[in-house]
Amino acid sequence: MSAKVLNGTELAAKVKAELKVKVEALREKGINSGLAVIIVGDDPASRVYVNHKKNDCAEIGIKSFEYALPASTSEEELLELIDTLNNDSSVNGILVQLPLRKHINEDRVIAAINPEKDADCFHPVNVGNLMIGKPQFLPCTPAGVVELLEANNIQIEGKHCVVVGRSNIVGKPQAILLLAKNATVTICHSKTANIADICRSADILVVAIGKAEFIKPEYVKPGAVVIDVGVSRGADGKLVGDVQFSTVSEIASAITKVTGGVGPMTRAMLMKNTVKATLLQNNLL
Ligand code: NAP
Repeated sequence: MSAKVLNGTELAAKVKAELKVKVEALREKGINSGLAVIIVGDDPASRVYVNHKKNDCAEIGIKSFEYALPASTSEEELLELIDTLNNDSSVNGILVQLPLRKHINEDRVIAAINPEKDADCFHPVNVGNLMIGKPQFLPCTPAGVVELLEANNIQIEGKHCVVVGRSNIVGKPQAILLLAKNATVTICHSKTANIADICRSADILVVAIGKAEFIKPEYVKPGAVVIDVGVSRGADGKLVGDVQFSTVSEIASAITKVTGGVGPMTRAMLMKNTVKATLLQNNLL
C-alpha cells in the first residue's frame, strides 16, 4: 500500500486565496490589515521563516512591518517596541520570531503582546481560552494540522490520536485541538515508556519532536494517518522530517511530506489569525 500524500501547499494556497478576498473586502471598507514581524539577530533559519511570512502577507494584501533588530537588543528595548506596536492601530497582529537569544526572557516578551494582536496564539490568555474551549485565535501549527485532516475528509472524532512532543507551541496545543474535535488523545514525550507501542495504537499519529526520521514503520499501525511536523537538517543539508517517509508511506493510509505538508499550513493559519485580529479590532466579529 502506498499512502495518500496530504498536500499542505495546495490547501494553504486555497486558504490564502480565500483570505485575499476577505482582505480586499475590508480594504473597500477603508480597513487595512497589518502584521508586525520582529526578528532579533541574524539566525539564518529565522530569516527564512520571516521572509516567507512577509511573502504570504504580500500575496494576501496584508501590510507587513518588519523590525529586524540587532542581536544585542536588550529585553527592555524589545518590550518597548512591543508596547509601541500594541498602541499602533495600523498593526493588527504582532509576531516575535522565536527562539529569542538567551539574554531575553521569551515568556515576558510573549506576555507583553496585546492578546488581541497575538497572531501566533502564544499569549497565556489565548492559551487559557483555548484550554477552556473558547479560543479567540488558534495556534498556527496545530490548527494547520487539523485543517489538513478535515480538508482531506479524515475523521478525527472517536479516533485515537497520539501526539509525540509536548512543547507549548506544537505538542500541547495540538492535543487540545484534537480533543476539542472529540478524539481520544495520548501525548508522548522524551520520558515516555514503550513509545513505539503507544504510537502503534494511533489511528492518527502527529509527530513534533525535531529528531530526523525517528518514526519508523514499527511505530505505525498499518492504515494509520501520519502527520510529520518536525523539521531537521539531514547530513546532506536537506530538510528532513521526524518520520522516515520512504518506509512509513508504504504502510500508512495518508501521510504528510517535509516539505509541502504542515509548514505551508502553519503559515496560512498565521495569515488567518491576522485577518481575524483585524476583524476583532474593528468590531466586525
Ligand atoms: P521542542 O520545543 O524542542 O519540543 C520537542 C518535544 O519533543 C519535547 O516535548 C520533547 O520531550 C519531545 N521529544 C524530544 N525527543 C524525543 C524522543 N526521542 N521521543 C519522544 N519525544 C521526544 O520542539 P517544537 O517547537 O515542539 O518543535 C518540534 C519540531 O517541529 C521541530 O523540528 C520544529 O522545527 C518543528 N516545527 C515545525 C513547524 C512547521 O510548521 N512545520 C512548526 C513548529 C515546529 P520533552 O518535553 O520530554 O523534552
